Amino acid sequence: MAVRIVIAGCGFGGMAAALGLKRRLGQSARIIAIDKTGRFDYHATLPELVSGKVTEDEITIGYQALFSQHGIEFTESEISGIDWRKKRVLLPGRAVRYDYLVLAVGSQTDFYGVPGARENAFEFKSDSDALAIRSHVGKMFKSCKISGKTAGDTCIVVVGGGLTGVELATDLKDLLDKVCAQCGIPGNEREIVLVGRSKHLSPGFSEEVGKFCEEYFKKQGITLLLGNPVARVGKGCVVLQDGRKIKAKTIVWCAGIRPSRLAEELGGKNYNDRCGLVLNKYLQWIASPSIFAVGDCGYCSAMEVQPTLTAMRAIEQADYVVHNIACEIQGRPNRKMQYSPRVFPALISLGRGMGVMSYQGIWAAGRHISWFKKITHHIHLARFRHDWEFLEYFDELFVSLMELIYIVSVRGK
Ligand SMILES: Cc1cc2nc3c(=O)[nH]c(=O)nc-3n(C[C@H](O)[C@H](O)[C@H](O)COP(=O)(O)OP(=O)(O)OC[C@H]3O[C@@H](n4cnc5c(N)ncnc54)[C@H](O)[C@@H]3O)c2cc1C
Repeated sequence: MAVRIVIAGCGFGGMAAALGLKRRLGQSARIIAIDKTGRFDYHATLPELVSGKVTEDEITIGYQALFSQHGIEFTESEISGIDWRKKRVLLPGRAVRYDYLVLAVGSQTDFYGVPGARENAFEFKSDSDALAIRSHVGKMFKSCKISGKTAGDTCIVVVGGGLTGVELATDLKDLLDKVCAQCGIPGNEREIVLVGRSKHLSPGFSEEVGKFCEEYFKKQGITLLLGNPVARVGKGCVVLQDGRKIKAKTIVWCAGIRPSRLAEELGGKNYNDRCGLVLNKYLQWIASPSIFAVGDCGYCSAMEVQPTLTAMRAIEQADYVVHNIACEIQGRPNRKMQYSPRVFPALISLGRGMGVMSYQGIWAAGRHISWFKKITHHIHLARFRHDWEFLEYFDELFVSLMELIYIVSVRGK
């Protein structure tokens, strides 16, 4: 009888695991993929969905159509729990049995207990969040055009100076350029404010890159209030710890994430509050080796320094999990691979016409980088949409190219 493998959550990690396992194991495995939504969102392009540079159809993939082409079963349902002792995934009204489970349920927004943040700020985690922000901004600016009043209505506050906050703020600037021109609102009557807890922007790279982004924000007229954490969020205002109050009708919370609620509930003693399920060197949950985890919901406890959580990381981990599950099923457990993360180049998009790339301390910025980032998105989407196996080598090629540039630049010094 075919081995039953359940994939819980079909984002970057889960999607790569489902397609990879089916390709590797064929008819010998029954792959059952479950997600609470019916389609995959390509998160890295969500800021561009806010500014309208891409459409929802361009950056989402329907699971049912994709998985059925590959003989993977798909169920759209919210998983309410996992009974790991009985090896069952719990859905409303039924349970799905597994021999192996790949947990890939990602993360949730962390409001760090800041009063009013959950109630009064937008989250920024999905295509529906991006569309809600876009529509709200449009409404605010149109109402100013009618009433002639602008106080607070035309101010947007982005909370969080990491990668997501930085990218969103610059795409909001592009959105406002369009909306203000349509509504006849002068440039000096609108404001985007980015508030961050750290003294510098930290989109995940070196201090130098952070400083470059700060200079770029100044040129774009985006106000930075750094080193000043948010104390509370009210209806139409953000209050900082130094007592300053910013009136804003649009507030977006990009200040942090924590592992998904499902991982938290499953984990018990074998869970870390910030990093998720505690995994061994083969990415198996230490309490139950038939559960593997990938992406934002778990971490490999064998490593001292944890790699940054990114989409590429989730895909990389899925490749390990595919191999390791295949080895177990095929009776070759000694051939399993220990997780060894690669250093990936990082790309930031700073709105229209600017991008930054960073790798092992060397970095470059310019319009060409923003194009390069766009190309990588298209390639990743095509890899999933068509399951083109050869595109797996794109990441390898990309990293090797960066390694070559790095070696040449280090030798040149
Ligand atoms: C706005 C934004 C921009 C980003 N930009 C970049 C970027 O430029 N580059 C980059 O590398 N990374 C970026 N990231 C981070 C990247 O998206 C994540 O690291 C990556 O998605 C993690 O993959 P994952 O598989 O762990 O989780 P996800 O891709 O989040 O997938 C989790 C899946 O689980 C499903 N799920 C959750 N709970 C349940 C449940 N109870 N029942 C059923 N299904 C459930 C969800 O619907 C989702 O489909 C960005 C993230 C965001 C939010």
